[in-house]
Amino acid sequence: MASGGGSAIDLPTPPAGRGARHSGDDASPLRATEAAPALRLSDVRKTYGEVVAVDGLTLDVRAGEFFTMLGPSGSGKTTTLRVIAGFELADSGAVELYGVDMTRRPPYERPVNTVFQDYALFPHMSVADNVAYGLRVRGMGKREREQRAKEALEMVRLPGTGARRPNQLSGGQRQRVALARALVNRPRVLLLDEPLGALDLKLRQQMQLELKSIQRDLSEQITFIYVTHDQDEALTMSDRVAVFSDGRLEQVGTPGDIYERPANEFVAGFVGTSNVIERGAQVRTVRPEKIRMLAQGESAARALPGVVRDVGYLGSVTRYTVELDRGETLVVLRQNLDTSAADAMRQLGRRVLLEWREEDEAVLETKSEEEQEP
Ligand code: ADP
Ligand code: MG
Repeated sequence: MASGGGSAIDLPTPPAGRGARHSGDDASPLRATEAAPALRLSDVRKTYGEVVAVDGLTLDVRAGEFFTMLGPSGSGKTTTLRVIAGFELADSGAVELYGVDMTRRPPYERPVNTVFQDYALFPHMSVADNVAYGLRVRGMGKREREQRAKEALEMVRLPGTGARRPNQLSGGQRQRVALARALVNRPRVLLLDEPLGALDLKLRQQMQLELKSIQRDLSEQITFIYVTHDQDEALTMSDRVAVFSDGRLEQVGTPGDIYERPANEFVAGFVGTSNVIERGAQVRTVRPEKIRMLAQGESAARALPGVVRDVGYLGSVTRYTVELDRGETLVVLRQNLDTSAADAMRQLGRRVLLEWREEDEAVLETKSEEEQEP
């Protein structure tokens, strides 16, 4: 369902926004980064009785960004979106959109729309009428809303489908109609709560690329805030990712930052497979694809010996689980460049050497360090 009030409220004109886009001189990315953030959350807290759903959340999202909130189920992502949209009021803290305080404003006064996973379209209405429905409710005239619905369907790459019924579209196309229904309100910030969660893997991957490319086209007008529990989805689509756990932020960064330099064990474990190793007092992690696995006897400067305890053949890659003589168990991912399934399976039980570059080890913040703070 799309919801919210669209652009009914008086906001400062964004430097790279709709107005500036046609003025031809000042739509530079630099101006956009100097402007107020699209979203600023300051120490937002939201509880439901005993449950602390969002716990002191502070966060900036830049104008035009594809920003993803990633975390396991129950980590507070939906609650955060609802506080941004105004469906819930924060217990404390502040919500600003483009520099304007929205903390106490009702949803229809916020320049925000939401796309949910469960996007029920009216089956008896045409696609165009579904898209224009919210505009009709707001009393917009027929000609204008038809024009806006047509534009919104073009934005989601479904031109010419307006006369069809929803059941004459595929699942992916219907999800794009749901997106058009939000875009038709011309929100400044689009909130997407696991919108692809109901689609099968192939279609989901196609839609990720599609949605990312739609966002690129619209990034001068609209900021995308996307919620998912799927790490691959977050890494593929986002400019930046915020990793949530238990209503708190664990880390905010680019997909590369989050994956290659996870801040702590939670992030390292939630985003990808991590191999945790200890070096003196430090805890470090090394990713499975960064480890070279050599046959015993191959020369290697700083390789560690171990035994292959498990082999998982995945087609394009094989995942080997190796128990090191010194104690840790590490997962190694190897591309099956010239390895057959039978070759891979033969590694089971063999003695091997594991080697990786020290620079591929990420140093983690550990809980014990935090506990030592006063
Ligand atoms: P996510 O979207 O990351 O799965 P939610 O924001 O939905 O997480 O939920 C965060 C926490 O708040 C969970 O413990 C959830 O059970 C609780 N919660 C969410 N909504 C409500 C509600 N309306 N009433 C009571 N508890 C809720
Ligand atoms: Mg949720």
